[in-house]
Amino acid sequence: MINVLEQSALKGLELRAVCAFKDNYIWIAHNDTHALIVDPGQADPVLHYLQKHALELHAILITHHHADHVGGIEAIKQVYPNATVYGPARENIPHCDHTLEDGDDIEFPVLQLQFQVLDVPGHTAGHIAFFSTGPDGAQPFLFCGDTLFSIGCGRLFEGTPEQMLASLDKIAALPADTLICCAHEYTLSNILWALEVEPTNTQLQQYHQQVVAQRAQDQPTLPSRLGLELDANPFLRTREPNIIAAARQYADADLTQDSDVFAALRQWKNNH
Ligand code: ZN
Ligand code: FE
Repeated sequence: MINVLEQSALKGLELRAVCAFKDNYIWIAHNDTHALIVDPGQADPVLHYLQKHALELHAILITHHHADHVGGIEAIKQVYPNATVYGPARENIPHCDHTLEDGDDIEFPVLQLQFQVLDVPGHTAGHIAFFSTGPDGAQPFLFCGDTLFSIGCGRLFEGTPEQMLASLDKIAALPADTLICCAHEYTLSNILWALEVEPTNTQLQQYHQQVVAQRAQDQPTLPSRLGLELDANPFLRTREPNIIAAARQYADADLTQDSDVFAALRQWKNNH
């Protein structure tokens, strides 16, 4: 479990990533009294954290139906029966109390937080993400599940390259200082691949050094910031000449559409 944030901008809100399984993160937002959690694939690490800090669980936010994101809901609800589960309308989520779709707003007055729901299909067909401008609009953050990873993106299990690219474009349009709270620690392996795609990207090179140092000390690399991802994540750079040229060379094809470039990059990463 971790705390890597400048807490000042979050105005009393704590944003923490609890480790689960091998490389999952379960995000917790709390104000020392009330808490909400995101994608609890496992119950025990979350229950441990909530009990240790004497927090009352108010809500469980779910981005998509995969077991490593929903597997802990049942056991957590047994301990916190009043916690409300919010999940995507277009997917089957166990114990879901409120279904959400694109443009929905949810409010948590006890945490002084409000979220806007974004449909982000691609990894799964009904995947959603939760965007908040933060307490008093001071520090935006995004719970994006398995859609965007630092220097990577989710695999296309249920969606098309066109859908995933449109989902990533939606995220790319958020404020550049948005904290990106991803559900997996994949950053280092993503960077090693991205350095092959864009070896001359100096921000990527610098980020590589930082991430190597963080991982050597077993620290999380998340949350990332959207601005960094826009500068260094190949999947958000499919219109950049460097990236297009690299994807064309990899695919040995013309790749006339943006989504063709995206699909070639996704293929490249899958085979890396
Ligand atoms: Zn998933
Ligand atoms: Fe996952």
